[in-house]
Amino acid sequence: MPIQTINPATGETLRSFDALTDAEVDARLERAEATFQEYRHTSFAQRAAWMTRAAGILEESKDSLARLMTTEMGKPLAAAVAEVEKCAWACRHYADNAARLLADEEVETDARRSFIRYLPMGPVLAVMPWNFPLWQVFRFAAPALMAGNVGVLKHASNVPQCALAIEEVFRRAGYPDGAFQTLLVGSEAVARILDDPRIRAATLTGSTPAGQSVAERAGRNLKKTVLELGGSDPFVVMPSADLDAAAGTAVKARVINNGQSCIAAKRFIVHQDVAAEFQERFVAAMRTLRVGDPMNGDTDVGPLATAAIRDEVEEQVRRSVEMGARVLVGGGRIRGPGFYYAPTILADIPHDSPAYREEVFGPVALLHRARDAADALRLANDTVFGLGSSVWTRDEAEADFFIRGIEAGMTYVNAMVASDPRLPFGGVKQSGYGRELAAFGIREFVNVKTVWIEGGEGPGEHPAAE
Ligand code: NAP
Repeated sequence: MPIQTINPATGETLRSFDALTDAEVDARLERAEATFQEYRHTSFAQRAAWMTRAAGILEESKDSLARLMTTEMGKPLAAAVAEVEKCAWACRHYADNAARLLADEEVETDARRSFIRYLPMGPVLAVMPWNFPLWQVFRFAAPALMAGNVGVLKHASNVPQCALAIEEVFRRAGYPDGAFQTLLVGSEAVARILDDPRIRAATLTGSTPAGQSVAERAGRNLKKTVLELGGSDPFVVMPSADLDAAAGTAVKARVINNGQSCIAAKRFIVHQDVAAEFQERFVAAMRTLRVGDPMNGDTDVGPLATAAIRDEVEEQVRRSVEMGARVLVGGGRIRGPGFYYAPTILADIPHDSPAYREEVFGPVALLHRARDAADALRLANDTVFGLGSSVWTRDEAEADFFIRGIEAGMTYVNAMVASDPRLPFGGVKQSGYGRELAAFGIREFVNVKTVWIEGGEGPGEHPAAE
């Protein structure tokens, strides 16, 4: 894929970049390794000062950063501004909490003293997607840098200016040169980078095939990976639910980020007793969405990020309809410049159709009817994915049935799934493994060192705690 900014609202190519040569990549990896040898010894207080400054820079620059995101991938501008603010929140969260989350843990044993110390691993490669061009990167970078690692970013090829802007935020925040670097390279360069001994671990957020390829290569090199992959989240509505709230949130949860979110609700599984009522509200609300220029404040849904994504959504819907799915609203691309696709709801979706089996990465909701709670659970789990899930019920026992039964990394009851720096984020099955955010996230890329001490006075505090 060429490294280019193409405005998805117009289809116009705005900027093109040459990929770094192997020698240029090597020089950056050398700088990452050299920086790590110094950076690993910095204190939490020093790292927190830089991270807090990064948060301030994000807040000051939120309008220009948001416009850049919208220009490169088409999300509505207000959502882009909110994304920058969320990045600042994650920076402050880890600046304020890393020392506590990574403090030495005393363990009583037969030793005079034994404890666990969390030490950094080294340069970590982050392969990131375009859909939340800033948030995906910051939710990796804030904990990784606070833990004493250094970061090397290979961002998606359609958001190169966002990738460079992120590097610039860390540079302006005062981090040592080499603490966070962007590599403008295509996906074909990733294998070689993973083979490089200076890279100690990798994280990828993206599609399942990309995750498989990175995990395979990293596995051959015995390097740890965290994978945040695709999802086809169920949104279960039971008879006791507040139907107005459920239908309103269903629309938001499906079209967030123009329908291109891993944790967007994609499969709406509604109990037959309330199916007709829910459908009526859901269809009516989808019809009122305003599709258009994402820079315009009134727009609810902008274009899909690339022509290829729009074409794939179109193909998935076309084939599913051919196999028998029924279009309740939308159902096709919007003619004219830009990569627009109409907000769509499909019903009667055949079991083997792409809409049933695959992740649909666009504003297309898939409506299913369930006979009872057990049938709803069966439908919810009838997917290779296991990222998030949302359940709407006012019956506590029923909520607990779904919390226990749904095979997913997250279950939100009477709410849509959203990431939060205070809570772990990640999936099971083909949605990946490992967790980002919260304590789990910062402990993914650390050496969990066991320390056993006999005799003498022994060391005191974690040196980074000074
Ligand atoms: P993608 O095509 O997998 O790309 C993601 C990143 O991986 C890009 O930087 C891409 O580089 C790189 N890549 C692609 N193929 C690769 C390979 N074989 N080896 C190494 N790197 C490779 O995904 P996307 O279309 O950008 O993003 C959409 C997908 O991401 C959806 O499936 C979505 O559900 C998932 N996602 C998951 C989460 C989560 O937290 N679980 C969050 C957001 C998105 P190029 O751009 O150069 O190809």
